[in-house]
Amino acid sequence: MVRRMLLVFAFILPVVTAGGQATPGWPIHSLERPRPLIVHPGGPTFVSPPADAVVLFDGRSLDPWRSPGDTTGPAHWRIVDGTLEVVPGTGNIETRIAFGDAQLHLEWMAPNPPLGEGQARGNSGVFLMGRYEVQILDSWENLTYADGQAASIYGQAPPAVNASLPPGRWQSYDILFRRPRFDARGRLTEPARMTVIHNGVAVQVNVALLGPTSHQVREPYAAHPNRLPLSLQDHGDPVRFRNIWIRPLPARP
Ligand code: MG
Repeated sequence: MVRRMLLVFAFILPVVTAGGQATPGWPIHSLERPRPLIVHPGGPTFVSPPADAVVLFDGRSLDPWRSPGDTTGPAHWRIVDGTLEVVPGTGNIETRIAFGDAQLHLEWMAPNPPLGEGQARGNSGVFLMGRYEVQILDSWENLTYADGQAASIYGQAPPAVNASLPPGRWQSYDILFRRPRFDARGRLTEPARMTVIHNGVAVQVNVALLGPTSHQVREPYAAHPNRLPLSLQDHGDPVRFRNIWIRPLPARP
């Protein structure tokens, strides 16, 4: 009985600890931080856009996107076989519409055969409000620091488990996002929160973010507008996307 209970706890604990706070106790990108257990997902989850969703990529049009340095022209990435592909070196792209609290669905695929190691393999990312990144990375048999692998809140919170599929397979993220709140003086009153489901597996559950995403140092929150563009990262790898849609969420009562 005791052994059975211990076994149950071993499975439940990683999920429970993923809730609440991103853990500030670990130095950013620590290689000592335990790697999440691997859980093989059933597969990606394709979810058609609900009637009230804003479709951001339907396989045909880049119109909802722009390149920040050239906001009047088309975004600098390309459409290949009905997918949106990063063109390395052209920079991040962002939505023309701004969003705050939101439900986001997107599907992505890391290049196959894989090239590079660690952070240099199938790296991209989705930045809520252009500031808060859920990492996209080929984390199939590819070790990197725990807070930088696929479905991590980059530099802050590793996913509860590694639910990655191999490169060349479509993977899905469903993200629930609450923006941070600031008072009239610009002081933080509520941190941003994220829930992330990777290939149908809950990997971040209502995690409070420590601040905006940054590399090697943790930046404090800085007040910003209630709505900002969503952005996708060019990290030098031709990662592909499909079926991207977003539903603005009403503010909490
Ligand atoms: Mg990234």
